[in-house]
Amino acid sequence: ALDPRRAKVLVVGLGVTGLSVAKYLSRLGFNFAVVDSRDNPPSLKEFTEQMPDVPIFTGKFNEEAFQVASHLVISPGVPLTEPAIAQAVANGSVILGDIDLFACSTNAPIVAITGSNGKSTVTTMLGEMAKISGKLVGVGGNLGTAALDLLETPADLFVLELSSFQLERTTALNAAAATVLNISADHLDRHKDVEEYAGAKQRIFDGNGVMVINADDPRVNAMRRKGRRTYAYSIKEAADFTLAKIEGVECLVYGGRKLMELSELRLEGRHNAANALAALALGIAVGLDPDSMCDALRRFRGLPHRMQRVGKIKDVTWINDSKATNIGACIAALQGCDRKVVLLAGGDAKGADMSELRPAVQEKVKSVVLMGRDADLIDQALAGCVPTYRAQDMQEAVRIAASLAEPGDAVLLSPACASLDQYKNYQERGEKFAKAVQELLA
Ligand code: ADP
Repeated sequence: ALDPRRAKVLVVGLGVTGLSVAKYLSRLGFNFAVVDSRDNPPSLKEFTEQMPDVPIFTGKFNEEAFQVASHLVISPGVPLTEPAIAQAVANGSVILGDIDLFACSTNAPIVAITGSNGKSTVTTMLGEMAKISGKLVGVGGNLGTAALDLLETPADLFVLELSSFQLERTTALNAAAATVLNISADHLDRHKDVEEYAGAKQRIFDGNGVMVINADDPRVNAMRRKGRRTYAYSIKEAADFTLAKIEGVECLVYGGRKLMELSELRLEGRHNAANALAALALGIAVGLDPDSMCDALRRFRGLPHRMQRVGKIKDVTWINDSKATNIGACIAALQGCDRKVVLLAGGDAKGADMSELRPAVQEKVKSVVLMGRDADLIDQALAGCVPTYRAQDMQEAVRIAASLAEPGDAVLLSPACASLDQYKNYQERGEKFAKAVQELLA
């Protein structure tokens, strides 16, 4: 444990997470400083207003600050391979993540959720389930409120969405229930390979809580640990939580017993049935009431920019899945479509091998409109699969898609890439898409 009288803590990175760490250390009376290699880090203004006396070094990393630190609390955005960090570790500094600080500061049970895709959806589902069950619940982490900020409000239960970068620097989480939803290639610009990325995610299971395992994902299935209480879920085969026909109707079931009918779930795409099963398993693991959980699922309308219908024009359905920032999400989106698809894709591929898209594209897609920095790369990866078109911006992409789509088709924005080469974030990309579709309607 950290001793406020002895530790000299250095907060590395001053974004949303770094600010939450600084506020936490300041509340507890720690002696600390902050560094950020950017000249004007995102949370600088709030920080200097709230903590005017805490030393901060911006611009290049300050070597001396690293030399005197006994502990480094490193934001997820800062690579651990940063030379200043490697040097500090060699000199004996201890690395911590904000999630370690969080875990040692609460006695309330923590449910932890990671995976390449579906984290926000499952985290939000579970938060709604806990609320309907009458619990005071804190929901955040990688989405919404930073974990340490959640501690400012009383809670019976915490539901945390965690990224691979947060988990990479976490050693003491010990969640009451945890899951890795799935593993597909992502962030290979920062992780050495898929194995290292999966290894970081797997740390979510460290401790002795209930493991919730997606039996349909081979990399996740291999993470099972001997002697641990485990719930498996599957949308393909028998499992603790699965889909099954009961009196001819497809249902979500637990231990062979019906929880609710699948058609009551008002979300596009079969992957959302898997997300619902994961949320149910996690909820049961921490003692939530099954009926209340099903009520929450019946009411859940999904999050914006995830398989969200934004219009129907001349029997063409327009779907905004801008949050599909990797291959896995795009494949799930295509597999879940029961129509022929005109696909809008492209952006920053983050080092992924785009040819993994080929089978799903061949099966569901009639043409692809490509945009963004890695359009060429995707074009090459899909060579000979389906006709491809180029667009300079979203408006042009929507215009081209409108000319290609026929009644009965779907036009799907599911880029398989990050948005940062052309947009502020995936939200802005999705909003530009929705706006261009609205203009078609007008
Ligand atoms: P995350 O927080 O992990 O990014 P989201 O819930 O925001 O997950 O969804 C991100 C993208 O992944 C969206 O395009 C969504 O349609 C897709 N998606 C959601 N759940 C799954 C799943 N279980 N498997 C594959 N793709 C999914």
